[in-house]
Amino acid sequence: MQSQNHDKIEEGIRVRFAPSPTGYLHIGGARTAIYNWLFAKKHNGVFILRIEDTDVERSTADSIKGIIDGLNWLGIDWDEGPYFQSKYIEEHKNAALRLVESGHAYKCFCTKEELDVKRQASLAAKRSVQYDWTCRRLSPETIAAKEAQGLPYVIRFKVPDQQGGICVHDAVYGPIEKQYEDIEDFVISRSDGSPLYLLSNAVDDIRDGITHVIRGQDGLANTPRQVLIYEALGARCPVFAHMPLTLDLKKRKISKRTHGELVSVQFYRDHGFLSWALVNFLVLLGWHTSDDREIFSREELIDAFSLEGIGRANSIFNYTPGDPKFFTDPKALSINSHFLRTLPIEKIAELVKDEFVKEGIWNPVYDGDKRRWFLSTLNLIRSRFHTLKDFPYLGRAYFSEDFPVDPKALKKRVLNYPNLKELMPQLADRMEQIEDWTLQTTEEAVRDFIQGLEEKPGIIINAIRTSVTGQLAGPGIFDVLTAIGKERVIKRLRRVPELFEEIQE
Ligand code: GLU
Repeated sequence: MQSQNHDKIEEGIRVRFAPSPTGYLHIGGARTAIYNWLFAKKHNGVFILRIEDTDVERSTADSIKGIIDGLNWLGIDWDEGPYFQSKYIEEHKNAALRLVESGHAYKCFCTKEELDVKRQASLAAKRSVQYDWTCRRLSPETIAAKEAQGLPYVIRFKVPDQQGGICVHDAVYGPIEKQYEDIEDFVISRSDGSPLYLLSNAVDDIRDGITHVIRGQDGLANTPRQVLIYEALGARCPVFAHMPLTLDLKKRKISKRTHGELVSVQFYRDHGFLSWALVNFLVLLGWHTSDDREIFSREELIDAFSLEGIGRANSIFNYTPGDPKFFTDPKALSINSHFLRTLPIEKIAELVKDEFVKEGIWNPVYDGDKRRWFLSTLNLIRSRFHTLKDFPYLGRAYFSEDFPVDPKALKKRVLNYPNLKELMPQLADRMEQIEDWTLQTTEEAVRDFIQGLEEKPGIIINAIRTSVTGQLAGPGIFDVLTAIGKERVIKRLRRVPELFEEIQE
């Protein structure tokens, strides 16, 4: 058994992300890109973007744009490319012809009909359905005669006729063995001269000087044949590292077909994800550190990343379409909320601004004289948020008079207590008297007001919260009051009787 061993990481690392542009950039593709990018960054290598667009019927310009936009948004930058596989078709064709000349491949004139008949016969006799080498045995004269007649032919790779096989040391899956006798003489070029994907991919990797092929586990089936091509072309094999599949909770492979938009990078962008949080989440689908750490900065991740950390077990994307509770894996949300809480507030402000502009609630004073207020309010409310969308939605009451009131909170915290209809406007009167609106003065006023009442303090405090923010929970109430400001708080407290009326209508 011949064997490639490339355990040692060498100098001059060159890796690539080679998507076929047949749809949006999905999270599986993004994960492949991220692993390659991290590996290149870690080893001061080169990361190449190569668009494998030779399937002209399925490749689209929109998809190419989607892939490039998605990578840009994620912050996954490439050092070379994008190269387009379709530009190199002549090179692929020439490689096939070179393999014929060097005796590693041959022209096969068998027609589809002939092959079908043989296949049926083999199936009936329960024999191997591999190609039977008819054309491999043709004499040079017969080949020349067939060519002179203009008969069409495909080019088949000549798998070694000997005992033994190929052993590829996959950096993740370990030794992958394949006996020569189990590999059919596979087609590398069609009868119209167009190369097959297996050949194009290998030829491009050779030209691009790829040292490590890090790709999805579905590439594993191609690997032994690609190794044969590398060797026949006199090239050095790259190290292969195949990544485990990602499955959903029903054990279905994550795919565009089954999960639709939900698994596109764009979906996360549209749902208020921070791009780094998504990178951090995706990298954990199939890779881990020995201490199972979950949160990384860019530098920490580059430093920690290694092929050894890629596991063989399929990773689980903890989500089933239709789950009413979450729109994605809860871990993705928890990682996103971690970064929302901890990134510099200026960075969050920049991203929130985009969301506010989209929602029509952006006010230029947030960049001007109310900058400090804007930043401190974002800082106050961000601790409970999961996505950027929470700022204009759950946090809307801080920035707009037109804010949603959670019906459950309204019922539980306000409508259940009819006496609040009078109490809240009375509290508003009390608050009118506050001159300097601060954490202390609002607290004093509320405590003072509560003292004379029979109602429990908690009920009043909760009612204030729901009346002024529309929410059930949130930051400390006096921080909330200070941030929302005197005028708006008073207005909202005075509006409480209307909330009772609205419900009666
Ligand atoms: N174009 C292939 C795909 O999108 C890439 C396979 C490879 O990385 O070798 O699956």
